[in-house]
Amino acid sequence: MDSARYGEEFMVWSDLETAISHAVDHDELVLRYQPIISVRTGALEGFEALVRWDRPGLGLLPPAEFIPAAEESALICEIDTWVLNNATEQAAAWISTHGPRSLTMAVNVSGRHINAPRIRDDVANALRRSGLDPGLLVVEVTETVLVGDVLAVANLWELRRMGVSLSLDDFGTGHSTVAQLSRLPLDIVKIDRSYLDVETTASRERFRSMVDTIRAFGLPMVAEGVEHTDQFELLRETGVESAQGFALGRPLTAAEVDDHWLSNIPS
Ligand code: C2E
Ligand code: CA
Ligand code: CA
Ligand code: CA
Repeated sequence: MDSARYGEEFMVWSDLETAISHAVDHDELVLRYQPIISVRTGALEGFEALVRWDRPGLGLLPPAEFIPAAEESALICEIDTWVLNNATEQAAAWISTHGPRSLTMAVNVSGRHINAPRIRDDVANALRRSGLDPGLLVVEVTETVLVGDVLAVANLWELRRMGVSLSLDDFGTGHSTVAQLSRLPLDIVKIDRSYLDVETTASRERFRSMVDTIRAFGLPMVAEGVEHTDQFELLRETGVESAQGFALGRPLTAAEVDDHWLSNIPS
């Protein structure tokens, strides 16, 4: 299921759009939360909210099966706003239940939404409704959509002014990678999991040089896709601050997060 296919089969595409729109209105979307861990201490730093569609009769659909179609229209803004509202509410609830901890919540915001004037209100509303400290909300954006877009960059500065942290997602997969680091108001860089290849000396060197490049901009990093302990070792060696991946924690339901990650935390 990709957007190109839906583009060709217009009827199917438009049915999917209608169904996604219905899903947003009828709470068929659900969130999973994946932990982000401090490499140095192993402590929990926060979570990334990842959306799924609990489609009646079809089970849980991963974002790859509906986000690309939603990105063809303003529907993606509705999905992202639903995620913003629910993830900030969840983070605020966890903080109030488990004590005054600095637990961050990262939310993915699509390029189309970052390019829309409404993003400022959508983020402000989520913060006001949830009462979450703006510094604990991390907005993840991808680099490809931001190249050369003046409104998108102005919107990022406005989110920054509101106290929200900005994270550049999937770093290393787009074109003008390094240029973006000085052009955008960023707080964090997420290194794409394709870089976390420890198999050969050359691939380890490639990772090291990527880390050096990002560090030259003074930005803390999250390495994505940590699946093995030898990858975690490379993160320690290179001083990457934070890590995320199946070896450290899978995306979980809120109830599972309560049981596995938050129940033993001293407040
Ligand atoms: P992403 O932002 O890069 O999110 C990380 C993806 O990598 C997630 O897939 C996660 O489950 C997966 N992952 C985490 N650790 C590992 C690992 O160790 N190995 C491997 N192979 N994969 C790992 P998921 O949940 O299927 O999400 C896919 C993409 O969908 C996300 O990539 C993001 O671009 C998009 N997405 C998810 N939620 C939202 C949302 O609320 N709004 C928007 N606009 N996009 C979203
Ligand atoms: Ca992300
Ligand atoms: Ca990513
Ligand atoms: Ca992505």
